[in-house]
Amino acid sequence: MTKTALVISAHSADFVWRCGGAIALHAQKGYAVTVVCLSYGERGESAKLWKLPDMDLQKVKAARRTEAENAARALDVHDIQFFDLGDYPLVVDRDARDRLVDVIRAVEPDFMLSHSKWDPYNTDHMYATQVALEARMIAQAWGHKPGEKVLGAPQLYLFEPHQTEQMEWKPDVFLDISPVWEKKWAAIQCMEGQEHLWHYYKNVAENRANHFMRNSGGQSGGRKASHAEGFQSVFPRTVDEL
Ligand SMILES: [Zn+2]
Repeated sequence: MTKTALVISAHSADFVWRCGGAIALHAQKGYAVTVVCLSYGERGESAKLWKLPDMDLQKVKAARRTEAENAARALDVHDIQFFDLGDYPLVVDRDARDRLVDVIRAVEPDFMLSHSKWDPYNTDHMYATQVALEARMIAQAWGHKPGEKVLGAPQLYLFEPHQTEQMEWKPDVFLDISPVWEKKWAAIQCMEGQEHLWHYYKNVAENRANHFMRNSGGQSGGRKASHAEGFQSVFPRTVDEL
């Protein structure tokens, strides 16, 4: 059976900066990775597009969708879905949340990815994680749409936020994305509306690679890595050996 992963992204570019490497790496390992973009980030994360002449909401959304689709292609995403729920603020009503539950049950992810639990600069981000946790919980409930296969217990990894130190986010996993860095860099460059972030996230990946090496043995045999991504896991692991 094909392994699967599910990314829940508040806006249509977040999955690129924050876990594009994880997506491309797992695609390379044979995972079918689904991305749900709850909104296009059309109001709050598209400043460069709004500065162009004759822009309106529909044009910005269309541009953001094209950028995200191009990035998804660069990362070998299996399926990208746009819920178009609006941003600043993002609002997920009961129907939209149930739709997300349907996606979770259909994908049966081996792991999930979403935002940090706290983000005072961008409440859409922490709200997306709250919704992801609710939807995961509902997908596990035998009483929700009885007869459907219920969800197991996929890990929810919180990907790295912007302005990390303000977000109460502490990574406990570093993933070496060196083999797919070129794919992530290509995807980053698809986000033409946010060019000011390109090099910032290149630097983040390089710094996290340093932490990967330090934590894989440092100068006593630490594995070399050029680029990495950090994640904070929500749930404990169940193991037979430490
Ligand atoms: Zn965002």
